[in-house]
Amino acid sequence: MTKLIQLDGINGGGQMLRSALSLAMITGQPFRMVNIRGKRSKPGLMRQHLTCVLASQEISDGSVDGAEIGSTELVFRGGEIRGGSYQFSIGTAGSTSLLFQTLLPALLHAAAPSNIRLEGGTINPLAPPFEFLDKAYMPTIRKMGVNAELTLHQTGFAPAGGGLMEAAIQPINKFGVLDLHDRGALESVSIRVVVRALNESIARRILDSACVTLPCEDTEIEIREDGPGRGIGCLVGAKFTNAHEMSCALAEMGVSAESVGHRAANSIKRFIDSDATVGRNLADQLLLPMALAGGGSFVMMKPSAHVLSNISVIEKFLPVKFKIEVADRGRHILTCHDG
Ligand code: ATP
Repeated sequence: MTKLIQLDGINGGGQMLRSALSLAMITGQPFRMVNIRGKRSKPGLMRQHLTCVLASQEISDGSVDGAEIGSTELVFRGGEIRGGSYQFSIGTAGSTSLLFQTLLPALLHAAAPSNIRLEGGTINPLAPPFEFLDKAYMPTIRKMGVNAELTLHQTGFAPAGGGLMEAAIQPINKFGVLDLHDRGALESVSIRVVVRALNESIARRILDSACVTLPCEDTEIEIREDGPGRGIGCLVGAKFTNAHEMSCALAEMGVSAESVGHRAANSIKRFIDSDATVGRNLADQLLLPMALAGGGSFVMMKPSAHVLSNISVIEKFLPVKFKIEVADRGRHILTCHDG
């Protein structure tokens, strides 16, 4: 029987588990992870992580021990990845984007195309909103040969959830190498405030504040009456000739509308000023596709803890090494090469 890869999740979050699931399915190497989300306030598997485990088991005909809410230890063995039609429901407002990012790399390696419908949250704190997938993540990994189309059927704000996204995925043999050192000219900036069941005047204040921080003509308040619950999110996007970035800030109790707009716009302003080619969140999400491609490089700002913890998992599964070099003006060059 293939040797279990031993992983310790103490220094990271759910992403360490999700990357391990994707890589176990693709490489056929089983793993044991202990201390899953060990330092988080509620350690172990939460609903959204459990759904990633069970969905991975289903699409790969795999087996799993420890798949329970609160479990801090898990053994996962993937089988054969099977394309096809699937529907997975998180059952809470847990992020459908993170579930999608777990399943996509595996389904790209299936023999047949897939169609997946994912229910849960689509615009969450501390997770990529659907719009980020659509406008930043997908355009970037399409440069690596990925052929997948995403549709948002229903927006799911936390804590109500009830969102629904769908993805049609065509298999590819291998990710292509991405070397992204020149982002090209800034082609457009956009600010969208999406709102459901809350006073539009709050959305207006968020938008006005974002426009003060980052003057922009392409603005819109989108009323989304397509699901349960309520919420407001400010999405600020920047499109360069060769690069894409999008920030998201959500309205919350006790935080002024003005600071929500400022936060979303300032994040993009800093990215524009930085000359980096990949934003802070996108950076950790590109590591797995890059490693599967066997190489690649990009320019980012200071690496986040997610970058470091994700590298530690990926290097256990694949014969690659990541290198991060400090460049000028606080920029860092990340390179992935054959180990
Ligand atoms: P926990 O940290 O509680 O374990 P988790 O399972 O959501 O939670 P993390 O390990 O924190 O997992 O991973 C969160 C992922 O969401 C990371 O890839 C991070 O880059 C991404 N992310 C967070 N906020 C945003 C955002 N605004 N836009 C895009 N991506 C985001």
